[in-house]
Amino acid sequence: MTFDELKALDHQYTMQTYGRFDVAIDHGNGATLYDLAGEPYIDFASGIGVNSVGYAHPRWVAAVSEQAGKLAHISNLYYSEPYARLAERLCQRTGMSAAFFGNSGAEANEGLIKLARKYSFDRYGKGRGTILTLNQSFHGRTVTTLAATGQEVFHNYFFPFTEGFRYANANDIASVEGVAGHDVCAVLVELVQGEGGVNPLEPEFVQKLAELCAKRDWLLLVDEVQTGVGRTGSLFAFQQYGIQPDAISFAKGIAGGLPMSGILASERCAAVLGPGTHATTFGGNPICAAAALAVQDILDDEAIAGVKEKGDYLRKAIEQMEVPCIKGTRGLGLMIGVELEEGVNNKELAAELIANRLLVLTAGGNVLRLLPPLTISQEELDQGLEIIRHTLS
Ligand SMILES: *Cc1c(COP(=O)(O)O)cnc(C)c1O
Repeated sequence: MTFDELKALDHQYTMQTYGRFDVAIDHGNGATLYDLAGEPYIDFASGIGVNSVGYAHPRWVAAVSEQAGKLAHISNLYYSEPYARLAERLCQRTGMSAAFFGNSGAEANEGLIKLARKYSFDRYGKGRGTILTLNQSFHGRTVTTLAATGQEVFHNYFFPFTEGFRYANANDIASVEGVAGHDVCAVLVELVQGEGGVNPLEPEFVQKLAELCAKRDWLLLVDEVQTGVGRTGSLFAFQQYGIQPDAISFAKGIAGGLPMSGILASERCAAVLGPGTHATTFGGNPICAAAALAVQDILDDEAIAGVKEKGDYLRKAIEQMEVPCIKGTRGLGLMIGVELEEGVNNKELAAELIANRLLVLTAGGNVLRLLPPLTISQEELDQGLEIIRHTLS
């Protein structure tokens, strides 16, 4: 099929919910992708932070193939070894006590919301179901996680939204206290806001937030859907902030390209969701869990140790480029925001970079967002940087 035929077919038969770029990817290897005509692209996006260990990693392919030949699905009414092993691995690496697996980031955040509301209901009864989130946050596309998202543009069309969310300003503890009240049960934050513009929260703010949560018996919930699985240089971002959240969500990179998500709960709330309170048909699917275990092995053996260094290398190289339109960079590990000067549109620049065969993302605040596979090679980093350099000059 040619690209034009594919595009016509897509436009005829699919809901046009995505503003797609004029690219169709056929296959990939490492952090390099190939389109239908076999032309190579360097990947600084990983889907959207999903392909944490790149494409066709031999250990990932072997784990997925082996599990696919053994058992693709079994109901959660039965025990499954990959499910239990992955839960063990994640708990041991995070100091958490129990895992629940789902399929998407939004679904995992719904799990956090249910966990917090029931934790509070069990202790205090009704009337304490409000969750505080931050302005410029992003928590998903379901009706409830849209309501949790602290951006007015997402509170449109789909009325009525789920009630029970209020929004505070990031890095402003007085703003959090200002929207607090006796109806609150939890605070939900991303430690580096991804979609909102790659904005890392200040460690002092996060520590004060943790103290406030402990004092008021609110659960501290961290949305690690984008920051998790090695993206920021530690398995989860909270491990660099000197806090132990009550529960976290993860998704995107967890299974290296297969749909999987989950939540991890600390001892304090590990038993809140008992039999019959929460479930999902596909959650913890054996193939996805086997893939996630392979991702953990690959991170340990060949990726996570290099994330900080690769991130620093990229940021320094971009900051040192002698081009007029870059203001600076921000982020953590391989989650990088490139701030553009006014007058340069991030979406137009992304389209140009993609046309020059470098896949990149955008984020709020006129930012170019880079989320390369954590296994990206030095050669691929340099090839990508060269595309940025000649596109900008
Ligand atoms: C992508 C993202 C989500 C939503 O994940 P889906 O898998 O698309 O539902 C939620 N929170 C954050 C921080 C994200 O980056």
